[in-house]
Amino acid sequence: MLEDPARELDIDTLLARGDALPWQPSEQQAINFSFSSSAWWLQFELTNTTSEPVRRLLELAMPLHDYLDAWLVDANGEFVREWQTGDRRAFDSRPIVHRTFVMSIPLPPGETRRVVLRLDTHDGLFDATPLYLMDDASFLAKSQRELMAFSLYFGALLALLVFNLLLYVVTRERPLLLYVLYLSVFFVLMFSSRGFAFQYWWPRWPTFNNQLIPLNIGLFAVTLAIFSNSYLDLGRHAPRLARVLVGLAGLCLVSALPALQGHYAPVFRLMIPAAIMLSGMLLGVAVWRSWHRDILARVYLVAWSVLLVGITLYFLRVAGVLPYNLVTEYAVQAGSGIEFLLLALGLAWKINQLKNDKLAAERVTHEMQRSHNQQLEAQVHARTRELEQANRQLEIVSHTDPLTGLLNRRQFEALVDEELNRRRRHGRALLFAVMDIDTFKAYNDTYGHRAGDVVLEKVAALLNIHFRRAGDRLFRLGGEEFALMLESDARVEGQAALERFRRALEGLGIEHRGSQHGVVTASFGLVACENFTQVTDAQTLYQQADQAMYEAKERHRNRVVTRSIISES
Ligand code: GH3
Ligand code: MG
Ligand code: MG
Repeated sequence: MLEDPARELDIDTLLARGDALPWQPSEQQAINFSFSSSAWWLQFELTNTTSEPVRRLLELAMPLHDYLDAWLVDANGEFVREWQTGDRRAFDSRPIVHRTFVMSIPLPPGETRRVVLRLDTHDGLFDATPLYLMDDASFLAKSQRELMAFSLYFGALLALLVFNLLLYVVTRERPLLLYVLYLSVFFVLMFSSRGFAFQYWWPRWPTFNNQLIPLNIGLFAVTLAIFSNSYLDLGRHAPRLARVLVGLAGLCLVSALPALQGHYAPVFRLMIPAAIMLSGMLLGVAVWRSWHRDILARVYLVAWSVLLVGITLYFLRVAGVLPYNLVTEYAVQAGSGIEFLLLALGLAWKINQLKNDKLAAERVTHEMQRSHNQQLEAQVHARTRELEQANRQLEIVSHTDPLTGLLNRRQFEALVDEELNRRRRHGRALLFAVMDIDTFKAYNDTYGHRAGDVVLEKVAALLNIHFRRAGDRLFRLGGEEFALMLESDARVEGQAALERFRRALEGLGIEHRGSQHGVVTASFGLVACENFTQVTDAQTLYQQADQAMYEAKERHRNRVVTRSIISES
């Protein structure tokens, strides 16, 4: 192993000076120069001790290695083979179509050949580079093993990606879309850092392939931050922190921009601290939310920790702290596989939660609607009752006289006609009386109209007290004229009742100077009717009673005159 700090050695000088150069032996299984701006030379000799020609395959198993120049030199110092390849040269520069660098080394029987390798980088960053020397069968077996492992890994990521994309299309839940974006960026990052993207997607674009990786890391940071914000609901729990996370991730992405101009050193100078801060904060947030018994955050914490462990192991290896081995080689793959699976699980949980929240909200709305409906119904009931009440009131008003509360003239005709018919059917007599307050005009003239009204009210009240049997009907026909239809069908009984009332009215002793009796009195005409052919309607009955009442007026008023209309048979 030989360091060429000035990068000025070429193969001819190297071969010419031979052992004069400060070659160092190397015991490492995977050479790692980590951060170094030197070019590095390796050489070793291979001897075929058999009697058959032998072919060996030399694999430099680091797909991102920038520049690889190699020579196969025979014992005479002649170049048998010569290769110029590397990640910064078009894919068809590779001697064997493979994501890593594989060189075919023929060894004739009994001969010794020397392999010289020159490793150089564009930006002074080496990664651990394992070297394998194998026969064809071993290479095939190793290659298949790796391909199977990667196929399973990428297949799983792809399945998660497509499945969650479909879930998003169906459910339209934003966290699913963010997960898909995050996973897509990570997929491309892994696919290109393992050399597959260059081999299968853009074999002619080595520059683009190299620019893509830092850009991809920046995008990874951004999608990670946005996804985490949504997944952990940080916009609600810690809105300022959520913005800081996105800001840090944005810084990672911006720091990747110089890579577009081919400058990688400033990229990593800014990106590495930003990425470390972002990772640390995400971890902190996950711990904080987990502490608050957020199940989603606990899932996230485990998932993110697993990936962080993988990434840390990987970087420790890149930095030369840890050796190259299966664990450091595949830690990121294993970690990310577990991470995305766990996050998908968390998302399922989250969607379920969202669904439950929605259902609960719907239930509340439904409940509100129901109680609202009930309220409405109650209101309608109340209004209906009020309306009915008002209607009843209206009916009463339309049936009664406002001053006295007695039935009015309209009711008189209807009710008396009805009663006449009933009595005719049952063969019972009908007692009907008309009453007129005596010299009421004079009362009004003396005491005023208002006082007259008060008298009318008192008379009505007295009537109500005296005639309260179920069938008794009291009417105010107009002015100071009243009518009475009595329940009783016994003439004498009716006459006595009227007489009692007449005396009671007189007994009230309402002063009336203009009256010959000195107090308010009334005259009554009572008809006891059992001849319903002569009296067919209320009007006729009224006329009969009115005549009787006038008779009473003529006979000094304040008296009851009774008239019987007896059946002819
Ligand atoms: P008579 O004894 O012959 O019945 O004499 P009268 O004065 O009572 O008879 P008349 O029909 O001449 O007068 C009726 C009076 O009743 C006329 C009016 O001043 C009075 N009157 C009618 N309606 C009302 C009323 O609603 N309120 C009051 N205060 N007075 C009324
Ligand atoms: Mg009158
Ligand atoms: Mg009168």
